Order: sequence, then structure tokens, then C-alpha cells
Amino acid sequence: MLKYTIKNIFKKPSTVKYPYEKRDTPDDFRGQIVIDVDKCTLCHFCEMQCAANAIEIDKENNAIKYKIMKCIACGECVDECPTEAMKIVPQPRKSGYDKSWKIIKVPRLEEKLERKV
Ligand code: SF4
Ligand code: SF4
Repeated sequence: MLKYTIKNIFKKPSTVKYPYEKRDTPDDFRGQIVIDVDKCTLCHFCEMQCAANAIEIDKENNAIKYKIMKCIACGECVDECPTEAMKIVPQPRKSGYDKSWKIIKVPRLEEKLERKV
């Protein structure tokens, strides 16, 4: 017991003085979902994979509906997206109360083509 006490007195603390000091986020940390709308084809794969029902594809309005409060950052949608339009980035999500759907507009194919000309 005494051995461990003495050892711990001289050891660097495991904690940091947050918010003055911050730890680096690990590369594989599942933080936020990011969608590249130019790559999205509104194929529904992400919606079908999402067990939390946090994502809906609104083909009529060319939009992806995403509810951050429902998303558990499992990454299933990212793995299933055939065009690699979805990414999960290691930035932690902010806390909040907003339970509404976030509407992410996806440009129509004609718009995407026009931009390329
Ligand atoms: S799986 Fe990818 S391409 Fe398909 S709707 Fe979702 S984000 Fe768009
Ligand atoms: S990360 Fe998981 S919970 Fe969040 S939208 Fe994708 S599949 Fe749904």
C-alpha cells in the first residue's frame, strides 16, 4: 500500500485542468456526421441503415432530414453510403435542446452539372 502511495505522489496527474488544457481527441472518436451534399444521390441507404431513425430522405424536396438528438453516432450510415458522401469527424458534438429536424438541401443533378460547365 505504502509503495503505491509513494509512487502516486510523484506521478503526473491523469487529469488535465479543463477548460485551460484540453486533451487531443482520438482519430477514431465518433463525433459529428458531415454530409457532402454534392456527392449525395438521395439513395436512401443511410436512412435504411439508421436504427435510431435519425435520418430521413425527402426525395420530393431534394433534402436530407437529420435529427442530431436522435443520432447515436454509430457510423452505420457512413459505412453504407455508396458515394462516400457521409463522414464521421472526431469533433465532439455540442449539447443542446433542439429536437427539430435539420433540413440539408441536396442540389438537383442539373444544378450539379451546371456548376461543372
Ligand atoms: S447513403 Fe449517401 S448517397 Fe445515399 S442518401 Fe445517404 S448520404 Fe446520400
Ligand atoms: S451515425 Fe448512426 S444513428 Fe447517426 S444518423 Fe448515422 S446511422 Fe443514424
